[in-house]
Amino acid sequence: MARIVMDDLHKVYPGGVKAVTGISLDIADGEMIVLVGPSGCGKSTLLRMVAGLETITGGTLSIGDRVVNTLEPADRDIAMVFQNYALYPHMTVYNNLAYGLRNQGVAKPEIERRVQEAAAMLQIGDYLQRKPRALSGGQRQRVAMGRALVREPSAFLFDEPLSNLDAKLRVQMRVEIRQLQKRLGTTSLYVTHDQLEALTLADRLVVLNAGRIEQVGTPMELYQRP
Ligand code: ADP
Ligand code: ADP
Repeated sequence: MARIVMDDLHKVYPGGVKAVTGISLDIADGEMIVLVGPSGCGKSTLLRMVAGLETITGGTLSIGDRVVNTLEPADRDIAMVFQNYALYPHMTVYNNLAYGLRNQGVAKPEIERRVQEAAAMLQIGDYLQRKPRALSGGQRQRVAMGRALVREPSAFLFDEPLSNLDAKLRVQMRVEIRQLQKRLGTTSLYVTHDQLEALTLADRLVVLNAGRIEQVGTPMELYQRP
């Protein structure tokens, strides 16, 4: 678990687009923050800055007690779940989960333990020998989450992870993500354009507009005002 602190973050893309303009936010250990706002407001840019996939052009970003501005993604102790799953098509589910850990040099019994634990939590234990193409959309999304889980990171970053699923599955999965995140207590930053998803998941909602924070608050605070 880790606190994440954004202090006056800026992102100017090459060419001059100001995508993020002075964002400051203190995310508590174990908190689930959901970023919402209109298309182009800077949600995914901000998430990718935390992930280390976009350079930070101003301000300071800390994860845990470290300033991570210039750290590579692999050195930030975070794991990201993408909308398009990003699974390896030629590998079994087991190996999709194990691959990153093998690259990190994690010992085989420890890999085994983490894969089995994640598979049990996500109810994919029966599919470990299948290839992704033999799975349903929901099962693939579980594998994608499993790949983040096995890293046992300090923080999860979710980039619209449910937007490729049908409506029924989205409802089911958002409840499960909420339960899993609370059970693990892993600090999370979640991007969605689905308002119900945001309300279900968020400890606090952050509404962005044109690269700035427009509102921050619990779902109650933002939506139950007279
Ligand atoms: P959101 O995720 O809220 O839709 P983005 O973070 O994708 O918003 O985009 C924020 C702004 O940055 C938009 O104006 C977008 O066009 C611009 N932008 C995003 N990615 C790039 C890029 N690689 N180069 C230049 N401009 C970009
Ligand atoms: P390697 O040593 O070549 O990396 P492994 O012995 O880890 O291979 O795995 C070989 C195959 O067995 C893979 O297809 C993997 O999916 C599967 N596998 C390994 N351990 C388990 C396990 N505990 N449960 C299910 N499948 C496993």
